[in-house]
Amino acid sequence: MSDNILEELFIKRSQQKKKTSPLNYKERWFVLTQEKISYYDYDLDKGKRKGLRGSVDVEKIKCVETVQTEPNTPQERQYPFQIIYDEGPLYIFAKSEDVRALWIKTLKELVRFNKDLMQKYHPCFWHDGMWLCCQQEVKLAMGCKVLDTKNGFKSTQSSRRASRKPLPPTPVEFQEKQGRPLPPQPPEPPAPSASMTVIAEYSYTAMTDMDLELRKDEEYTILEKSDPNWWKARDKYGKEGYIPSNYVVEAASGLERFNWYSKNMNRSQAEQLLKSENKDGGFLVRDSSKAGKYTVSLLTKVGGETGGSCRHYNICTTAQGQFYLAEKHHFNTIPELINYHQHNAAGMVSRLKYIVSNRAQPPSTAGLGYGVWEIDPRYLTFIRELGTGQFGVVKYGKWQGQHDVAIKMIKEGSMSEDDFIEEAKIMMKLRHENLVQLYGVCTKQRPIYIVTEFLVNGCLLGYLKEGLTQHPTPIQLLEMCKDVSEGMAYLESQQYIHRDLAARNCLVDGNGTVKVTDFGLSRYVLDDEYTSSAGSKFPVRWSPPEVLLYCKFSSKSDIWAYGVLMWEVYTLGRLPYERLNNTEIVDQVSRGLRLYRPQLANEKVYSIMSSCWHEKADERPTFQELALNVQDLLYELQ
Ligand code: ATP
Repeated sequence: MSDNILEELFIKRSQQKKKTSPLNYKERWFVLTQEKISYYDYDLDKGKRKGLRGSVDVEKIKCVETVQTEPNTPQERQYPFQIIYDEGPLYIFAKSEDVRALWIKTLKELVRFNKDLMQKYHPCFWHDGMWLCCQQEVKLAMGCKVLDTKNGFKSTQSSRRASRKPLPPTPVEFQEKQGRPLPPQPPEPPAPSASMTVIAEYSYTAMTDMDLELRKDEEYTILEKSDPNWWKARDKYGKEGYIPSNYVVEAASGLERFNWYSKNMNRSQAEQLLKSENKDGGFLVRDSSKAGKYTVSLLTKVGGETGGSCRHYNICTTAQGQFYLAEKHHFNTIPELINYHQHNAAGMVSRLKYIVSNRAQPPSTAGLGYGVWEIDPRYLTFIRELGTGQFGVVKYGKWQGQHDVAIKMIKEGSMSEDDFIEEAKIMMKLRHENLVQLYGVCTKQRPIYIVTEFLVNGCLLGYLKEGLTQHPTPIQLLEMCKDVSEGMAYLESQQYIHRDLAARNCLVDGNGTVKVTDFGLSRYVLDDEYTSSAGSKFPVRWSPPEVLLYCKFSSKSDIWAYGVLMWEVYTLGRLPYERLNNTEIVDQVSRGLRLYRPQLANEKVYSIMSSCWHEKADERPTFQELALNVQDLLYELQ
């Protein structure tokens, strides 16, 4: 009995494992141990538990959450919770809110290191062959609501140390399961009392008097976060000023100061980076897809392979909180462990020979200094012409002689300038690694300039047609779609509508990362041929019926365009509906015509792009959902 963590009499709903199984509610005696949650018959008269009716292994649990009650639920079933495991949900009804909260908290503690913890769940019941929350009819359908954190736990050093039981002495190598990080979230809301310590991942030279210089690997105290892109900070000498928030990381695990640690990097990004360095024994340490865990990713060229292959090793923890990769060698800290394996392979395919870091290139800042959005054109140097668009010529140049920038020189009469200048202040605050960063504007002279981040591989459409190798891999194509979906999920979270999403409005950087550009700009075009849906320059081929018929733009019309963009990616840049003219497209798309499945797209990819072309806008997915679906597919490919 002493092994029992909790015991309680609950009502349990029958699990309806078959469609014909009856739905009933029975009282069962539940017992929770480290290993299992078991339920027994209960003799009410004698107050004793009887025969075992069933159990669920704790390590198979993927999610523990409350369930929303239905209207007219009887009093005794007011406090339901669900335990999701591989056979579906187990619904249990507690007698009070307190008891329910205690069980959920305890279970979450127990399962937090489980493999395959869910990131989305169904907040309502599975009932009569349907999820009541999202009306999906497949019991194993992915959840429709995102959990705030991975089952309520953040990855911190302390939670990792509180591991519930020693991990089994596993062989060092492991295959990571399908857990995926969610697409990047919008910047955190202001935290007035923030006094957190951060470490600079990059050096930053102050661009204005208000800025504070950052020195790589040094600690800073954050004093104010009211602007999500520029935080007020203090250095160790007491100097205060603004720093780009994406140049620092919270000193949470203490690993941030090590070059080999790549926080927020997933498996596929790690492989891409290791392969681009292409060094035998090249390695990095990253957050595992399992919350609170770390993984060593290592490139090996055993057998003289030229390309090399990647291995991923989970850093395991003993009951005493020590770390190990090889069973026999335990260390008090991860840096000690890494140091040991830099000299000894000890069971791995090779020792850790070269640190591969993703910190070579500092990311873009939201503007060229805190509060700067008007740029002095005297600091710009023009180097070469990149192309011409709706607003005129775009040039590559330098700001202050050293920072790469793209400069759009706005042809007079092509843009409603005053409105745009107002909007630019908002656009500058949009910052995401898959959006082309607006740095600022030069508005004191004519033509006005829009200054943005420069992407060396230019427009995605051109890249698809000419820049890619002849046979791009399925992972390459899907990664491009993933990049766009994540940039767009961020715009969606900011309630910002693009209105002209297409491959021609995405750019590609030197690593092949795709970024969305020109968001919202179409509203400032002064050209009826472009703005009127009947105009020859209107993006008819990327528009859903409600835009073509009623000019109704929304995030859902962006979703439609995203489906067409996926199609462009999988046809390597063909023109959508190439045999039809605009009038025919309006007519036929409104009557149900859709783009065909490109040869390079398998059924799963095509089903994602087709889901964007639902006639009813509200039945199309959100970008957040799309990003998760695309990422799921990527995991399947890897
Ligand atoms: P439209 O304005 O009609 O949508 P567009 O998107 O091609 O067409 P611009 O955004 O003005 O027009 O860009 C013109 C060309 O300049 C692009 O095709 C691209 O090759 C290049 N370009 C634009 N911005 C950048 C940038 N930030 N980095 C690198 N190249 C760029």
